[in-house]
Amino acid sequence: MNTTPQEQSPDSDALRPRSLYDATGAQLAEVLAGEPAYRVKQLWAGMYEQCKPLEDITTLSAPLRKRLSEELPTSLLLVRESVSDKGDTVKFLWQLADGNHPIETVLMHYADRATVCVSTQAGCAMACGFCATGQAGFNRQLTVGEIVEQVVRASRHAKQRKQRVANIVFMGMGEPLANEPAVWGAVERIHGDMGISARHITVSTVGIVPGIRTLATRPLPVNLAVSLHAARDELRDDLVPINKRYPLKDLMTACRDYLRVKNRRISFEWAMIAGVNDTARDASELAKLALSLQPTAHVNLIPLNPTPGFATRGTDMAGVRRFAERLSDRGVNATVRRNRGTDIDAACGQLAAGQPVVIGTKAK
Ligand code: SAH
Repeated sequence: MNTTPQEQSPDSDALRPRSLYDATGAQLAEVLAGEPAYRVKQLWAGMYEQCKPLEDITTLSAPLRKRLSEELPTSLLLVRESVSDKGDTVKFLWQLADGNHPIETVLMHYADRATVCVSTQAGCAMACGFCATGQAGFNRQLTVGEIVEQVVRASRHAKQRKQRVANIVFMGMGEPLANEPAVWGAVERIHGDMGISARHITVSTVGIVPGIRTLATRPLPVNLAVSLHAARDELRDDLVPINKRYPLKDLMTACRDYLRVKNRRISFEWAMIAGVNDTARDASELAKLALSLQPTAHVNLIPLNPTPGFATRGTDMAGVRRFAERLSDRGVNATVRRNRGTDIDAACGQLAAGQPVVIGTKAK
């Protein structure tokens, strides 16, 4: 537990938790006032180590569980669970407790471990034209509890399959570094209380420079992924509009400063869009940027997944391989991300939580 009653800061009394997973240990202790101190530990272990729902944490009496659930309800109401890849990819559609905000989480099973892809915002304000979340727009920030509960609920699902969640990627709906404090609160709990090492946690950003700088000041060694998609401003302005505010030069300076502090390899994500960013020129510009970082950035190539609001197709597999070879010829390692759950709209860039999207074509 990362906050004991003794460690509670004086002003945190004023911050009432909204939900069970937003509550600190100290706040849970308040609800359990009059109970022996070990009850909070039992509750905490039940919630975060065993990932049990409150009703199954039977080390607590039924009246205690009832009191807790009334005072601190959970945040996520399961609306739908969609399954793909013979059960290996599961997408959860949740409704947030305050009503109309749907969000999604994706659980991906691999041979011996599982990865959870979590959302950090309901919607997204970054407006990348090729991304379904961006097409649908922004609703609101998620709280620490709303982020953590996604990981707990997905882990619970994995446990039923006797699988362990080993990796967390902040690559669901939203821009993590536009909600950095809540993301960091969630990272601390996932690392400290759920026992998933920070080295197995990846924060992906569209390139919010101040957010990268804040992340550099945080103590835990999480991985940073930058959604680059274009290595010249003219094209990136078009694909990733926030580039107009944080152009490549500033973004690369922030990456370099981040590396100086963290010394952990950064990865670049590159959604491959046919005829738009998959040419020899793009490979050469990308290689140059990757090599400008020390250690050299690793490139993740993601064949563009279809979304309703973007007409241009993804690069075909032969083109993706050719692009990867061009990078490797220049000394840059690239992996091709296997697409999971495209048939249930669970793949990269497809999370819209059933939200209507703006239909239009925006290809260059
Ligand atoms: N906002 C953060 C987190 C989202 S991560 C970010 O941009 O990094 C989701 C990743 O999938 C990002 O790299 C995003 O650019 C990419 N993506 C978005 N739409 C996509 C699509 N249609 N096909 C493939 N990748 C896509």
